[in-house]
Amino acid sequence: MSNLVKGKKYQWETVIGLEIHAQVKSNSKLFSNSSTVFGSKPNSQVSLVDAAMPGMLPVINKYCIEQAVKTGIGLKAKINNYSVFDRKNYFYADLPQGYQISQYKYPIVGEGKVTIDFKDGSSKDIRIVRLHLEQDAGKSLHDQNPTKTYVDLNRSGVALMEIVSEPDIRSADEAGLYISKIRSILMYLDTCDGNMQEGSLRADVNISVRKPGDDYGTRCEIKNLNSIKFIKQAINYEVKRQIETLEEGGVIDQNTLLFNTSNGKTRPMRSKEEAHDYRYFPDPDLLPLEINQKDIDKLKISIPELPDDRKKRYVKDYSLSNYDASVLTADKSVSDYFDTVIKSDKSLQDSSKIVVNWITSELFSLLKDNNIEIYDSPVSPNHLGKLVNLIKANVISGKIAKDVLLEMFNSKEDPEIIIQKKGLKQVTDTSEIEIIVDEVLLNNKKMVEEYLSGKDKLLGFFIGQSMKKSKGKANPKILNDILKNKLSKKN
Ligand code: ADP
Ligand code: MG
Repeated sequence: MSNLVKGKKYQWETVIGLEIHAQVKSNSKLFSNSSTVFGSKPNSQVSLVDAAMPGMLPVINKYCIEQAVKTGIGLKAKINNYSVFDRKNYFYADLPQGYQISQYKYPIVGEGKVTIDFKDGSSKDIRIVRLHLEQDAGKSLHDQNPTKTYVDLNRSGVALMEIVSEPDIRSADEAGLYISKIRSILMYLDTCDGNMQEGSLRADVNISVRKPGDDYGTRCEIKNLNSIKFIKQAINYEVKRQIETLEEGGVIDQNTLLFNTSNGKTRPMRSKEEAHDYRYFPDPDLLPLEINQKDIDKLKISIPELPDDRKKRYVKDYSLSNYDASVLTADKSVSDYFDTVIKSDKSLQDSSKIVVNWITSELFSLLKDNNIEIYDSPVSPNHLGKLVNLIKANVISGKIAKDVLLEMFNSKEDPEIIIQKKGLKQVTDTSEIEIIVDEVLLNNKKMVEEYLSGKDKLLGFFIGQSMKKSKGKANPKILNDILKNKLSKKN
């Protein structure tokens, strides 16, 4: 698959590296016991530590450390037994300390990798450089008062994991797949809630272009994107801009950019000359963090089955394609639902494809129309399994099954009860179907003549009429056979 982008003069290769900020799922902050709940009243979750009152000392939250280690394991990365918290110094209204506690030279997690899967069944590894822990800043509110800016420190001190990739990504699509995969892994691990709208997962995107075979070009960094759609839009815009600039003989300045979501363009925030000198140094209030191997090994055992392992299991046990399995496992709650359906009845193991289809087409569209998440589905996995079995056993046709599913969705009832109550059982009794067919042929004599003189397409009409008469309950195969048989005898 070629990822080259055509300019006016040359072909270009896009080079992308992501710095993802993932909020650690934890009840309290990285260095204080304040709550991390989203959407609370401004400044209602701020301790003296978070407000940087003089003399307050940070106390490390062990749970956040464990969450970072688990994430590192999930990213197949090296866990560092020794890491250091540094102060990253800069001034900003929403940063009361005047510095952010982060990790610089010695991060808690080192090199790892993440696999992304393509539609054609192929896959690719994106290398991770590091994962480090840091504090989030507060938030400036510019829209509360016409002349004042307010500051909300609820987010100040919340633990973030910054996950940095190598510049291995080659297109907007790959960037989308990469961040989706990271999100999926974090959600399986339960180390981040993955809520991009609330900012629990956001990314800085570094982009450059080069002619194939050349060294890396100068990159620009687009800050703080919080949706996959925006990430792709921003990349596509920026790649075009860089190519145009270079082909016109210009140079790329290493700028930090902001993406304007309303017009889809990037604009400079600051240039390299204005880049901060953060004057990192080890935080004197915190000892280096030492984690012993035993504790790491304990956490390793607690790691649940992750998307890649599930994907492999689905390919092996249920003969799903690599891509289908990757789509199904991307969202843990969807995958859990599928697993429960399949495990609800042994005979469903050979019908995994049918089960997948019913989940991803019919059930998904009902859930989407009603804005319900799959873990709240009114159709239980058990009932969906039953429905598939009823279709397989020819008790109902696929078409009737759609109506039954709708009824299951609305009433939460067992499909068997619905079928019984509404008399939806498929008619397989040949004599009953023959009566219907005879009637249809008798009522449409002219059409029968036309059919016999060569208008084959009319078969569909007869099937439609008969099906209608049976209220959709005639077994389609039997109906088809009977019709053909009767028509051939008329010749
Ligand atoms: P900094 O220290 O300035 O943040 P890093 O070397 O840590 O720079 O890189 C930050 C991110 O930029 C990484 O994700 C990396 O993969 C990416 N990156 C580095 N060089 C390039 C390049 N030439 N084009 C695109 N992305 C790049
Ligand atoms: Mg960086």
